[in-house]
Amino acid sequence: MHVIIHRGSHQIGGSCIEVFSDKTRIILDIGEELPDLEGSKPKVAVPPNVGGLFKDEEKKIDAVFISHGHEDHIGLIQNIHLTIPVFIGEKAFRIYNITSRFTGGKIISNPTYQFQSGREIIIGDLSITPYLVDHSGFDAYAFLIKHDNKYIVYTGDFRCHGRKKKATEYFIANLPNNIDLLMVEGTMMNRMKEQVETEEEIEGKAYDFIKSKANPVFVLQSSTNIDRLVSMYRAAKKSRRMFVIDIFTAHIVSQLDNSIPKPGQFKDIRVFYPYHLTQRMFQEPGGDILMKEFNRYWISRKELSQRKNYCMLIRDSMLSDLQHIENLKESGFIYSIWSGYKRQERMAKILNYAKSINMEIMDIHTSGHACIDSLQRIIHGNRPKKIIPIHTEASQLFVEKFEGVYIPQDGEVISI
Ligand SMILES: [Zn+2]
Ligand SMILES: [Zn+2]
Repeated sequence: MHVIIHRGSHQIGGSCIEVFSDKTRIILDIGEELPDLEGSKPKVAVPPNVGGLFKDEEKKIDAVFISHGHEDHIGLIQNIHLTIPVFIGEKAFRIYNITSRFTGGKIISNPTYQFQSGREIIIGDLSITPYLVDHSGFDAYAFLIKHDNKYIVYTGDFRCHGRKKKATEYFIANLPNNIDLLMVEGTMMNRMKEQVETEEEIEGKAYDFIKSKANPVFVLQSSTNIDRLVSMYRAAKKSRRMFVIDIFTAHIVSQLDNSIPKPGQFKDIRVFYPYHLTQRMFQEPGGDILMKEFNRYWISRKELSQRKNYCMLIRDSMLSDLQHIENLKESGFIYSIWSGYKRQERMAKILNYAKSINMEIMDIHTSGHACIDSLQRIIHGNRPKKIIPIHTEASQLFVEKFEGVYIPQDGEVISI
């Protein structure tokens, strides 16, 4: 069996790995590179160099497996040959498709198969078993690949400190003990000093902050970070506040099971319609149907201006909405995504606005990625023969910390 990391051996984002035998070729993730944070370089979607994967080529790839729905793992799925089957988690597939409806993208039109954790899939002479793992992106999987009694593991993005930590523990405990190659994410490798708190600790901190405020509290977070949304919902509910999400987030949570807070099922949730998004969606074919789906739970700017006892999720695209809600002086503002995004212009603008009206800004966040403890758990627990760091800018640090580390270049063939 052979592996090529087409992209990701020396960078975070844009991951694309090929695993192949003499008869079968599969791709794990087809990600788009992350945008430059300062926005000085325009974002151009550059596909990795994989023969037989893309639309304008003769198809030579047997299947594409997607670890999870973050853009840096799925972002170029629209470029692949339309006859290649795509394997993805059910919820990740649903979230991808509904997000596309709101962002002007397309739904996945390839033949699509939704896999289940622990259930083996055979493609040609390769066996692939997905395992659910804990990550900030919902419905994320690692893959165990077997061929001729050789084992390869690709972790995707994972962690052990979120609400699904038991899933990661189960995955690690159930791996065979003779792994030939472990491809492990190393996003945090050069950020080891960053404090890693559990989602429960995040919830506790958010509760303390919300409780201390007499005015509304806004939470800037990703709509697809469902663990975080649950933390914020629980903190708001404990503080006896109404929880306000926007129409896009309402559609995301509606794709998930009923344990996840959503309008209708949870009576204290209301839905806000961001102005620009609403204008645009009513011009899209079928957009009006999507927009009307939650109008029973609609909350207006006027009502938000009059009330104080709510906690509302926002994104950096909602500055003008925030500016049109009155009486927000000295409200609370929880910044709940990676601090690096503060360098982006749009983020800086919304934070500056919050400061200008004397909002108290509090950073409450924990990473979606594996901390050193998680890396040690998988590496020391399974003692793989060879370790290749991926999704990292600090692969050299693996050499210092672990034995058996090999650092390839993108495009290099690694045989096991
Ligand atoms: Zn991710
Ligand atoms: Zn990633």
